[in-house]
Amino acid sequence: MASLWHPFSDMAAVREHEFVVDRAEGAWVYDEAGRGYLDGCASLWYANVGHGRTEIVEAAMAQMAKLEAYSCFADIANRPALELADRLAALAPTGADSKIFLGSGGADAIDTAVKISRAYWQARGEHQRVHVVSRETGYHGTHGYGTSIVGIPANREGWGVLAGENTVAPQDLDGVEKVFADVGPERIAAFVMEPVTGAGGVHIPPPGYVEGVAELCRRHGVLLVIDAVICGFGRLGTWFGIERFGVQPDLVTFAKGVTAGYLPLGGVLVSAAVAEPWWTTPGERTFRHGPTYSGHPTCCAAGLATLDVYERENLIPKGQELETALEASLAPLRDHPYVAEVRSGFGLLGAVELTAEVLSSVPDAPNKVLAGARAAGLLVRGLGKGVAVSPPLTVTDEEIRLLGEGIRAGLDALPLESPV
Ligand code: PLP
Repeated sequence: MASLWHPFSDMAAVREHEFVVDRAEGAWVYDEAGRGYLDGCASLWYANVGHGRTEIVEAAMAQMAKLEAYSCFADIANRPALELADRLAALAPTGADSKIFLGSGGADAIDTAVKISRAYWQARGEHQRVHVVSRETGYHGTHGYGTSIVGIPANREGWGVLAGENTVAPQDLDGVEKVFADVGPERIAAFVMEPVTGAGGVHIPPPGYVEGVAELCRRHGVLLVIDAVICGFGRLGTWFGIERFGVQPDLVTFAKGVTAGYLPLGGVLVSAAVAEPWWTTPGERTFRHGPTYSGHPTCCAAGLATLDVYERENLIPKGQELETALEASLAPLRDHPYVAEVRSGFGLLGAVELTAEVLSSVPDAPNKVLAGARAAGLLVRGLGKGVAVSPPLTVTDEEIRLLGEGIRAGLDALPLESPV
């Protein structure tokens, strides 16, 4: 039987050829035959504290035994959700007295953030502010708004007509200004961006770009939504990634690293000013939105235990401390004949992009590099034009070295006779 439909996968090719992972420990994952692989992309950019953390498992188990789940609708709350919101609010780059809306992952966090942004302007009487601007190469999850603002062309294809939103070239500040002018800044509710794009190819912003976008948004009253689903929880060396740019956003989405994947959880940090229409006058306004598992106590208990690990082991700065070692590991690949570009050196993530010639002459080349790296004992993530790495923050120098070596093995395994 072949029944499991894998996300983002060519099922006709994958069916009955699955790579079944069985267990994991630290930065290593083991298959059913017991062979170990370095978890080069922290599963899907989330296993930031590594695998097999008994303290997170035990916190979740204890909460599950006490109160496994209960909704946070109306006035109902639970202690882990209250505590997690307070701890995140204390870390929030959205300013003092920020509010935290919880959900189950990154996609619902994005849809929540866009709905809050649009509803904020409706509440303020600026009814024309409904447009959302995002960036080419941006990825914002699989839900409705996330799909309509995605900047990866392949993800926009095949659905018929999508709600048209406006994407701008990824690193071009003048382009943002032009789109603002074309749409009319008074009609834009929010600008959504990842500080460093992840799934769209690990594009690191040039100096001044993020600061420039923030300034443009401020000048035109457009809300700045930072998607920190990948960049948060140490990936760039700070809690939400955006702190590295000295910019104060209005909303921040998070997921993945908040529990390091031990249980599904995500949410939105909302500045006090943006939350104000809902938080001030009883009876005035209700935000008619919220997933069933908002504030799920067991997921929040896992989140609290994960924050404890980050703090106790001082892991958050690692994403910056290790960026030079990652760059040193990947840099030699720049000379490989099949490589067009290596992007790394900012945060503990990087990408190796294949040349146009390789991409056109080898069908599904990124997945073939991935397979070759796996054969050499390294798990990486395939991108449209190459592969990405984003290992757990706990990796050793030796493990970082294996990232470059494993990708080289994947490149060398490509079915090409000679350098193209
Ligand atoms: N935003 C970004 C930047 C992401 O990378 C992702 C997932 O990879 C999402 C949103 C969606 O998160 P989830 O898959 O948890 O719904």
